[in-house]
Amino acid sequence: MKFSLKTAVILLLMLLFIFNIVGCSDEDKYEKTVFLMDTKVDITILGNGMSNKQYVNLANEIETEMKLLESIFSSHITGSDIERINKAAGQEAVKVSPETVFVLQKALEVAEMSGGAFDPTVAPLLDLWGFGTGEYGVPAQNDLEEVLPLVNYREVEIDEASSTVFLPQPGMKIDLGGIAKGYIVDRGLKIADDSSASALFINAGGDISIAGKKPSGEMWRIAIQDPLESKKLTAVLDVEEGSIATSGDYQRFFEAGGEKYHHIIDPKTGYPATGVSSVSILAPDTITADALSTAVFVLGLEDGMELLERLDGVEGVIIDKQGKIYASSGLADDLKIVD
Ligand code: ADP
Ligand code: MG
Repeated sequence: MKFSLKTAVILLLMLLFIFNIVGCSDEDKYEKTVFLMDTKVDITILGNGMSNKQYVNLANEIETEMKLLESIFSSHITGSDIERINKAAGQEAVKVSPETVFVLQKALEVAEMSGGAFDPTVAPLLDLWGFGTGEYGVPAQNDLEEVLPLVNYREVEIDEASSTVFLPQPGMKIDLGGIAKGYIVDRGLKIADDSSASALFINAGGDISIAGKKPSGEMWRIAIQDPLESKKLTAVLDVEEGSIATSGDYQRFFEAGGEKYHHIIDPKTGYPATGVSSVSILAPDTITADALSTAVFVLGLEDGMELLERLDGVEGVIIDKQGKIYASSGLADDLKIVD
C-alpha cells in the first residue's frame, strides 16, 4: 500500500476530476449525450466504417435500452418492479422481470461479502434522511431506531424459478441506487456487442465503462484533468476494457447545523458513513464497480481495503477524510504521468 507522492497526486486528481477522451487519432466515431438516472450520460461509439445511419440507430437503441431499464428499477415510478415490491412488503411476493432478479441477487452478494455494509434494503433510512423524498433533515434518534430493524438484506426472499421477490416485513423497502446504474450501463455496452461497432465508451456522470478494443489496437486512455486548471491534463490511465466507478461524500448531500450529511448510509448506525471521503473502483464490469464503490465507502479504509485485496480482478483507491490516498496493490503501476 506504499507508493510515491507523485502517484498519490495523480490518484487524487483521478478521483476528483476524472473525465474521458476517446480515440486520439480515430475520427470514425459518434457521440451522443442523454439524461438518465439523474445524470448526464455520454455515449461514444467507435464504428470502424459504420454509416451515419448505423451510428444513429445504434445510439438510439442503447438509449432506449437504458431508459427501459431505468423505469424498471426506479422506486419512484408507479408500476415499476421496485415500486411494486416495496408496496407489497409484508403482504405478498411480487412477480418481477429477470433483470430485477439478477440485480437484486448481485446486490445481496455484495451485501454478503461486505458484511452488510452494502444493503439494498437501506431505503427506509434514506427516506428518513430525505434522500428518497427530497425533504432533507437529521432524523430523531427514536425514528432511526424504529426503522433500523427494517434494514436487513438477509430477509429479502428471491425465488428465481418463479421470478418473484418478497419483503417479509411491512415497511421494508428496496433501493437500488448504489448498483442499478452500473447494471444499466453494462446492458448499454452489451448492445454494442451485437452490432458492427468495434467499441463503445459510456461515461455516466463520472462512472466510466469501456467495451471492445479500439480499431487501432491501442489501449483506451482515461485522461485525468488538473483540478486547478480545468483544461489541463496531468495523467492518464491506460486500460484495455473495464469500468471505473466512484462514490464520494461530495456527490449528494445537505447541510444542517453546520454539518454536512451525504447520501451513503451505514446500515448499522443509520447515519451517513463517516470513515472516508471517496472511493474509486476498477472492475471488469460496471455493476461490480458501482456496488463495490458504495460498499467500500461504508466499510471505510481498513475493512474496505481488505475486501478489495480479497477480490480477484478488482482494484480501488480510497481517500480518507484527511485527503490521504490509499491504492490497492494492483493499481498504482497502471497510472502514467503526462508532462
Ligand atoms: P452515486 O450517487 O454516484 O450513484 P453510489 O454508487 O455510491 O453513488 O450510490 C449511492 C446511492 O446508493 C445512494 O443514493 C442510495 O440510493 C444508495 N445507498 C446509500 N447507502 C447505501 C448502502 N449502505 N447500501 C446500498 N445502497 C446504498
Ligand atoms: Mg455505487
